Amino acid sequence: MSEISRRQAIGTLAAGAGAMGFGSVALSREALGWNDQTQSYELPPLPYAPNALAPHIDEQTMLIHHGKHHAGYVRGLNNALDQLHKCRADNNAAEIQHWERQLSFHAGGHINHTLFWSGMAPEGKGGGGRPTGALANQIERDFGTFDRMLWQFKAAAKSVEGSGWGWLVWEPLGQRLLITQMENQQKMMFAGAVPLLGVDVWEHAYYLRYQNRRADYLDAFTSVINWPEVGRRFDRARG
Ligand code: MN
Repeated sequence: MSEISRRQAIGTLAAGAGAMGFGSVALSREALGWNDQTQSYELPPLPYAPNALAPHIDEQTMLIHHGKHHAGYVRGLNNALDQLHKCRADNNAAEIQHWERQLSFHAGGHINHTLFWSGMAPEGKGGGGRPTGALANQIERDFGTFDRMLWQFKAAAKSVEGSGWGWLVWEPLGQRLLITQMENQQKMMFAGAVPLLGVDVWEHAYYLRYQNRRADYLDAFTSVINWPEVGRRFDRARG
């Protein structure tokens, strides 16, 4: 693929993220593993050892989730960008819808998981506890208390139909925090919302250790939420 076509492709990724409803993902191109030399995305490393979140999230789940599932979204994203380039070159409109769907799904998967890993930290080393500062104040303003926010976050994530995500987002127009559900990697997002904290409720995120007990997994997740990082995302989103 030529340099020009890849530059076009990068613009297409931004459009894909927009289609997902995220106004700004607060992630740099570097954080998303963009390689200027190969002009493609690479799987970014985990920000901690794969066993660092145990016992809440076990090592085997982390290794498969990151090394197989997340890697698959990165591959799918690169492929969708290549295939759309090919469609343009071949004047092939018939496959545009298919690859646009693939682009939205895999771009969502890559962005969501990149936010997910750094949204967690080992318990006691940034993970767990409660938010502080401006984010804590905003949570009290918009939800009453931290506990009510967490109650809604877990209830929303638990009741996602099928595979998807629960999110705490900043909604810039209303200048407020919201909790939203996402189906698959990209559907049902609030347009323009900025993601602050996401929890993956695909079965691949918890089935090895928790089987069908999604609620137990969500309780465990709260022990490793990286509130300092979520607070930094909030500060950037609010501007
Ligand atoms: Mn996942």
